[in-house]
Amino acid sequence: MSSFAQRHIGTDAAAQRVMLDALGYDSIDALVERAVPASIHVKERATSDIPVAATEAEALAELRELASQNRGARPMIGLGYYDTFTPSVIARNVLENPSWYTAYTPYQPEISQGRLEALINFQTMVTDLTGLATANASMLDESTAVVEGMLVARRASKSSSNIFLVDADALPQTKALLEHRAAALGIDLQYTPYDSVLDVDVFGAFVQYPGATGRVWDPSSVIDAVKAQGGLVVVAADLLALTLLRSPGSLGADVAVGTTQRFGVPLGFGGPHAGYMAVRAGLERQLPGRLVGVSQDAEGHPAYRLSLQTREQHIRREKATSNICTAQVLLAVMAAMYAVYHGPDGLRGIATEVAQKAEALASRLREYGLTLASDSFFDTLRVHVPGRAERVIERARERGYQLHWVDDATVGVSVDETTTAGDLAAVAWAFGLPEGEFAGAGDQGERALPFAVASALAGVPSSLARGDEFLTHPVFNTHRSETAMMRYLKLLADRDYALDRGMIPLGSCTMKLNAATEMAAVSWPEFSRVHPFAPEADVRGYLALIEQLETWLAEVTGYDAVSLQPNAGSQGELAGLMAIRGFHRANGDVDRTVCLIPSSAHGTNAASAVLAGMKVVVVACDEAGNVDLDDLRAKIALHADTLSALMITYPSTHGVYEHDVLEITQAVHDAGGQVYVDGANLNALLGYARFGDLGGDVSHLNLHKTFAIPHGGGGPGVGPVAAKAHLAPYLPSHPFSQRADHAGGFVFDGGAISAAPQGSAGILPISWAYVRMMGAQGLKDATAAAVLSANYIAHRLKDHYPVLYAGEGDLVAHECILDLRPLREATGITVDDVAKRLIDYGFHAPTMSFPVAGTLMVEPTESEDIGEIERFIDAMIAIKAEADAVAAGEWPADDNPLVHAPHTASSVIEGEWAHPYSRSTAVYPVHSLVRSKYWPPVRRIDQAYGDRNLVCACPPIEAFA
Ligand SMILES: *Cc1c(COP(=O)(O)O)cnc(C)c1O
Repeated sequence: MSSFAQRHIGTDAAAQRVMLDALGYDSIDALVERAVPASIHVKERATSDIPVAATEAEALAELRELASQNRGARPMIGLGYYDTFTPSVIARNVLENPSWYTAYTPYQPEISQGRLEALINFQTMVTDLTGLATANASMLDESTAVVEGMLVARRASKSSSNIFLVDADALPQTKALLEHRAAALGIDLQYTPYDSVLDVDVFGAFVQYPGATGRVWDPSSVIDAVKAQGGLVVVAADLLALTLLRSPGSLGADVAVGTTQRFGVPLGFGGPHAGYMAVRAGLERQLPGRLVGVSQDAEGHPAYRLSLQTREQHIRREKATSNICTAQVLLAVMAAMYAVYHGPDGLRGIATEVAQKAEALASRLREYGLTLASDSFFDTLRVHVPGRAERVIERARERGYQLHWVDDATVGVSVDETTTAGDLAAVAWAFGLPEGEFAGAGDQGERALPFAVASALAGVPSSLARGDEFLTHPVFNTHRSETAMMRYLKLLADRDYALDRGMIPLGSCTMKLNAATEMAAVSWPEFSRVHPFAPEADVRGYLALIEQLETWLAEVTGYDAVSLQPNAGSQGELAGLMAIRGFHRANGDVDRTVCLIPSSAHGTNAASAVLAGMKVVVVACDEAGNVDLDDLRAKIALHADTLSALMITYPSTHGVYEHDVLEITQAVHDAGGQVYVDGANLNALLGYARFGDLGGDVSHLNLHKTFAIPHGGGGPGVGPVAAKAHLAPYLPSHPFSQRADHAGGFVFDGGAISAAPQGSAGILPISWAYVRMMGAQGLKDATAAAVLSANYIAHRLKDHYPVLYAGEGDLVAHECILDLRPLREATGITVDDVAKRLIDYGFHAPTMSFPVAGTLMVEPTESEDIGEIERFIDAMIAIKAEADAVAAGEWPADDNPLVHAPHTASSVIEGEWAHPYSRSTAVYPVHSLVRSKYWPPVRRIDQAYGDRNLVCACPPIEAFA
């Protein structure tokens, strides 16, 4: 039987032999040993914490064993996380469907129309429910969204105050994030129960609606007061509650944020889930994250694309609205589809039932003499049980329920769409009510029966009842049958190009295989239906898995401590920089705030540094693509007393192993600075060298790149932060963490970076399984195969497109940058034309114009086999020949298959064919496409059209007629 590594690595020995012969190397090891500078080679270790590779069957069995150590309790803790029914049609056709989960961020809109439509549905859902003008395409979670909302307020407010008011009834994890993040930015937080007149000048205020205690109240007078003095108001609102309650927009809010988790996205012990943000008209340009808008293609047909990209970190860098890059696309798609499937009436029905169940429980508890903290609520009760809280929670646990311990006298209980009459009976019993409450309803069935008597929102003033319509667009009112829903999901998936069609050779993004066995456990209820604040005793399987993964990641990176809390690479960067900040401050070095960043760095680096309260100073790169050592030394000297950190990427974003890396890190350390190594390119190093040995003090990794978590069309992600021991105390902590310490015995006390203590724990089984099945040798073999394939492509294409940078032995790392600027000089054909023509050939384009404008960065990864690699090489060579034909005058510069790419089916059959190239050249430039063509649904999309007349919600159906 073949090992998993042989399934994961696309090239077998014979294929590697062909590539090595072309490159002139005897063995793959010889090639990598040559490419990776000898000075940084990892020394063989006598022992390894990474066990010998398991087979797929063994890994699944071990995961089953870990799953069984999670106690299958029913969570009624609430606090922003609720159990939910993922409609099976969505679970099977989205969450478990590689056409959705292996897609990339929709930067190539022509081949992303399906997920862009799903995301515009998400935006429409959010704007409708929140009553605001524009919503983005997801945030990383609710608490980070609140922080970003605070930052929107600060940017947009006319007030010069640095005070931000915070609802005393905010979720505890949100308070923790606000405190951690505000401290770095000099923002002064002031908590208030909003029970008195506003008497301070503030730039903004935050309201939790409904509150963490469950309380539903009317914040409109608070909102008016804050706005009257020039502040902005951010409201975190529960979307399900909003189907019954007045929208934040109608109450006057400027910004609404929250989570869409309870719209069918499994709890997953904290994530991944899609947060959301919506803003009133006029604040669009302040929105963080990605935004989908309606544009048009070359034939004038409506088409979707990402809008207002000039706000984003990859363009604005330290001036960006936020550092978000990878967001939560797959989960946003699921939540949007939940709304599509249920429609406005279905959602209102679910919300009504939830509120009725809460009311039924409340009235029973009151009948037995218990009092509630608030008599107006949607789904959450705070029950007064002086001296008995522990006992009540214990009794509930005996029956398999998790309630929320608030204090000795108070227990919180939240109901959700999955709560049954039997659940309510058990909870009532836990509070001391006689057995048999809610009897007659049966354990599972007849869910509606006992609640009919209870009226939803009984304690809420009628002025807060929602009166306006929402989700009126046909998309939310058409797909009611499962057949219709299944077909809608298929229709959208078919418009997109994902890894299930072919290679996505995106430099810096490592679009490798996301193996089915790795994905399996994500759907198991023992992993998926777990609340992030569940007690330690109920989540031992998860904690064991997390501890192992931390240990393994520490070993392969050469660090001492690892936190898995950050929800994306950008958040790992922030966590790492905050750790550096904490370290300097603890040493009394409060003035060390300068962060040196090479000009070639990823945009998130600069944006994260600003969010960590640092000042970005750019370091030049030399002609070879390396950090300019002279400039670095000069900048270090200039900022000697204020140097906080250097952020470098290794191997560099130019795809080469910098020779001087040890000198660079030494120079920074000598000046008292810390070294942050961006680990996004770890796929070029794993098993051969370790960041810790290069002089790195802290790094983030991207589990959604190197460690096989699928990209989801733009998220989820996990961006672990790994650090040396001296920074460990400053790594992310969390008020609800189940763990006193982390792998290696380290206690983290840096402050919260994500809403959930273990971050997006629900997808950690993927990376766990990847490492478990690859073993140390498999991981190393994968690196070698990735480096070999990249070098083979560079070698085969270099006579057609110059390879911009190379290192030792003229070798590249795991990716190569093809310079298309000479092509443009000679033929007028641009990098855009080549990228779009690749669609006609059945490919996703490589990374465009990063880190150098006018180039393509190609990263094949180890997962592609030689057949697919050759197909790509052939396509690139053929495209070069087409460009040469333009230069030779065979085709006019403005009428050739490149400038008109991509070609849709209708473009070659409708009307007269009036081009100098044939229809079959247009759509079948290679014969093999005749049987296996991917047809783009739209022509080239205008990258400018639409930003001015921004439309970020579902356009009328007639627009597509
Ligand atoms: C992908 C990437 C990041 C950011 O990671 P996200 O998960 O998208 O936030 C940072 N640096 C580099 C070099 C990257 O390639």
